[in-house]
Amino acid sequence: MEDTIAAIVTSSAISSVGIIRISGEKTFEIIEKIFKPKKGSFKIEHQKIRYGHIIDDKEIIDEVLVSFFIKPISFTRENVCEINCHGGTVILNKILSIVLKNGARLAEPGEFTKRAFLNGRIDLTQAEAVVDIINSKTEKSLKESQKQLEGVLSKKIKEIENEILDIISDIEANIDYPEYDVEEVSNQKLTNSIESIREKLQKLEKSFDAGKILREGISIAIIGKPNVGKSSILNMLLREERAIVTDIAGTTRDTIEEYINIKGIPVKIIDTAGIRKSENIVEKIGIEKSIDISKTAEIVLVAFDYSEDFTQDDYDIIKNVNNNNIIIILNKIDLKNKLKKEEIKQIFDNKVIVEISAKENIGLEKLEKEIYEMCNLDSIINENETLLTNSRHKNIVSTALNKIDDINLDVSKKTPIDIVSVKIMDLLQLLGEITGKTVSEEVINKIFSKFCLGK
Ligand code: GDP
Repeated sequence: MEDTIAAIVTSSAISSVGIIRISGEKTFEIIEKIFKPKKGSFKIEHQKIRYGHIIDDKEIIDEVLVSFFIKPISFTRENVCEINCHGGTVILNKILSIVLKNGARLAEPGEFTKRAFLNGRIDLTQAEAVVDIINSKTEKSLKESQKQLEGVLSKKIKEIENEILDIISDIEANIDYPEYDVEEVSNQKLTNSIESIREKLQKLEKSFDAGKILREGISIAIIGKPNVGKSSILNMLLREERAIVTDIAGTTRDTIEEYINIKGIPVKIIDTAGIRKSENIVEKIGIEKSIDISKTAEIVLVAFDYSEDFTQDDYDIIKNVNNNNIIIILNKIDLKNKLKKEEIKQIFDNKVIVEISAKENIGLEKLEKEIYEMCNLDSIINENETLLTNSRHKNIVSTALNKIDDINLDVSKKTPIDIVSVKIMDLLQLLGEITGKTVSEEVINKIFSKFCLGK
């Protein structure tokens, strides 16, 4: 018999209500010992909430609500009770310790969800979606995780698995009953079926880019010579004063990282120190960092001061920008303009130019729109009803695609069908790892170790 487990499932911050969840065979037995209903006698009724007190050695500990879930209709498919009590750390821990004293053990991180998986209520992609939902940075990424929790990805994988099973059964019929008149799996038919599977997997693999953007966000570097307004642009995007803005050139020496939400995309903005020639050691580090970051960031905002002529510093920056995803910002449009836009257009080969005033908060919407469009999210999302958001899934799909190339090679070389068949079986086995059908215990443990306590 599995242990009965318990944990505080609400956050550790002080709040008005806290919840302790208990799951396992002994759940109701424990609750009966420690809970006294206000009215009537103790009764276990599915999906009912009872009001009463937690009692320890006849002492009233807290006023609580207890909800009952009789297996298999519960989060874990086991008997479950949830105690809603007051939300302080001391009281929650006190009640938890009473629960533990009466026969439960403390749940490991992710153990409730792991039981839901092991007991077949959810598959692995759905369990992983639980973590993603908790970690979602924006509503858009939350929506993708919710779709995964509903089993959208599992359904897609199942479709592909069924196609593979069709191929396998065709081949088996051929191998097992060669004397019967079963249609021979002609190379052409086999090739077509494999191609259809390959296309589906490739589409999924491609969707990972969009999924990753939603889950992990993108990073943006703002570069430009000192005083063009980089910190002000950052502040405008953050919609609050966080980075330090000064009049003295070269004061933003360290890099600052903040997450913002641009139309549902989590964006990490890196404000870099100004790039310019300098003997000053601190500033030199900043310059090197700026150049590095402009190479690694997904999008680089290159800022110029619209109210000043180009200087050598500007040209040096232009030389150093080494990224295809560039948005040019002409800042300070509230001042008289001196910079020649045509020249910039030529230098940057018609890259997107956005004119703004960080000081007067003009042009923010246009800038956000250009950033969003550069991520190319809509086209990928429209094309794919299912997005891969998890790198474990992505790696499996990529490995599966390699296996398919290998199978195709075999087919073209007219390798004996029973050998090809073994490889196709491997492919099926591999895809099963996504939903958890064929996954090893080690992988399962690794996945659930990422969960937080109480999930
Ligand atoms: P950084 O060195 O590139 O980070 O530049 P800052 O953001 O610190 O700005 C330098 C100076 O330019 C500050 O005095 C800002 O107030 C000013 N500034 C920034 N953006 C604008 C703008 O759009 N218009 C005007 N007039 N001044 C600006």
